[in-house]
Amino acid sequence: MTDRYAVIGNPVAHSKSPWIHAEFARQTRQDLDYGRIEAPLDAFARTVDAFRAAGGRGANVTLPFKGEACAYATRLTERARVAQAVNTLRFEGAEALGDNTDGVGLVTDLERNLGRAIAGRRVLLLGAGGAARGVLQPLLERGPAALTIANRTAQRARELAGLFGKVRGGGFEALAGEAFDLVINATSAGLSGEAPPLPAAAFAPGAFAYDMVYGRDTPFLAMARAAGAAVSDGLGMLVEQAAESFQLWRGVRPETAAVLAALRRG
Ligand code: NAP
Repeated sequence: MTDRYAVIGNPVAHSKSPWIHAEFARQTRQDLDYGRIEAPLDAFARTVDAFRAAGGRGANVTLPFKGEACAYATRLTERARVAQAVNTLRFEGAEALGDNTDGVGLVTDLERNLGRAIAGRRVLLLGAGGAARGVLQPLLERGPAALTIANRTAQRARELAGLFGKVRGGGFEALAGEAFDLVINATSAGLSGEAPPLPAAAFAPGAFAYDMVYGRDTPFLAMARAAGAAVSDGLGMLVEQAAESFQLWRGVRPETAAVLAALRRG
């Protein structure tokens, strides 16, 4: 029987994950089927249970369920435990292993695909949701000069920063007078056509701006460009985190460059 996987989120209709995993499967000659499942906002666990009962072997979890997926998992990888957010589940009998591949996806895209260093840079991370949680530890491991979190709900940023040494967190107003070399947007503001309220001076000369949202030119990227920053959307992160999930499920690492290039061509 063909092994079944899926991306579970709400909304999920826009997800490119089914196409990416189909390409990975073709490339590595793996027999699998990868679909998309929109879980009702109040029924994440029930939806996952039903997928497992129907033969699901693993799932990617996206907005807004990464915290619930963490609670659902019966065992966590170290990076998922640190993040307290899960974007990848692997099912084996009664066990549901929870992992988080967002961080390695972001770092790989920044450093390898885009040639942007994190080490020694002043890094600003916008947002304190599941995506921000997932990337904090991997970013810190690359040795930034400083790491600051800013979030609409300032208290969430303070709490998240408090979980890690050497990280500052607060509201956007606390950024006045500061400049950063790398600004990463991990908010979902772009999905509703909004930009986080960031002062233009936050982009240092030569800064790089990265929006985890992909497939559209977000107000954040427009704002960063206007401030003189070079920019990228999050398509490469999507492909790299998918490759890491694929490896967890199938034990083989797919090549990402051709898949990313094909997605960019549309
Ligand atoms: P989430 O847990 O729902 O968190 C959303 C975050 O966005 C919160 O910090 C929230 O602030 C903030 N926010 C929402 N609307 C805002 C607005 N209008 N202005 C300012 N801040 C706003 O979502 P998530 O799972 O962290 O995902 C965040 C984004 O990253 C999504 O767009 C997702 O698609 C993207 N993502 C991309 C990849 C990739 O591979 N490229 C991977 C993961 C996530 P409050 O705390 O104040 O509510």
